Amino acid sequence: MEKRNFTKKFASEAERAQRVFCRENSLPFFAPEGGRCPRCGRNVYEGGTNGAGEAHLTGCPHCHLTFCD
Ligand SMILES: [Zn+2]
Repeated sequence: MEKRNFTKKFASEAERAQRVFCRENSLPFFAPEGGRCPRCGRNVYEGGTNGAGEAHLTGCPHCHLTFCD
């Protein structure tokens, strides 16, 4: 039921935060467009609610697909 808190608005804000984080740290942006994992179809920002603006996202937290290959 806690998944109800996850919305498209949150996802777009998380994606923006991740883009800013990458730019400020001179890191490549690896996350898929829209945050949707190409393998499992879940949103890569879902579940990692405290990290998008603070950590480099290099893989899916759900199926562990790496985006940097
Ligand atoms: Zn995945």
